Amino acid sequence: MEMDFALTYDLLERLASLLRAEERRVGKELGVEPVHLRALRFLGRANRYSDTPVAVAEYLGLTKGTASQTLIRLQGKGLVTGRPSLKDKRKLHLSLTKAGRAVVSRVNPPRAFKEAFAASSAPSSLDELFLELLTTLQRINGSKSFGICKTCAHFQHRGTGNSYRCGLTEEPLKVRETGLICREHLSLLNEPAGTNDS
Ligand code: SF4
Repeated sequence: MEMDFALTYDLLERLASLLRAEERRVGKELGVEPVHLRALRFLGRANRYSDTPVAVAEYLGLTKGTASQTLIRLQGKGLVTGRPSLKDKRKLHLSLTKAGRAVVSRVNPPRAFKEAFAASSAPSSLDELFLELLTTLQRINGSKSFGICKTCAHFQHRGTGNSYRCGLTEEPLKVRETGLICREHLSLLNEPAGTNDS
């Protein structure tokens, strides 16, 4: 499986940014901050050695103070509950309440990601899978693809040499431009758009 690491990184970064946006949107709907959602997701999967405030701080890369504030907020909202360890009373084990589990089931993973994954075909490479996921998420979010020019549905390669053209603007493209990203990019995985809002 051949991978273009720069492309893979780019796809992952854009996927992550869309998923974070989705997380913010759902969090707003539920009245929960993104970091709280991440803490809830972690606690929903943490084993008995990891369901502690220290582990939450480590997993989320937070200071102990910030993690503690996060957990106090989550307990205040009735999403997390704590019980002292039987072996060491100073140690607290945390778990999700029924309401906390209901929140996690909404965001783990976000609905848009489930839809994008279900819509993906049988990709032959990780890059292809990431690209399909990204394209579907962008379509669901109504966001522009900002893809690489040479992967655009408007991209035209004339003959066998370095003669490239943009089918949208009908202008020639320099070789260097074919590897740059474009706000007018139309993914080959999307239906052709009828209009363009530039
Ligand atoms: S619309 Fe943009 S990405 Fe598509 S071919 Fe033209 S310049 Fe390239």
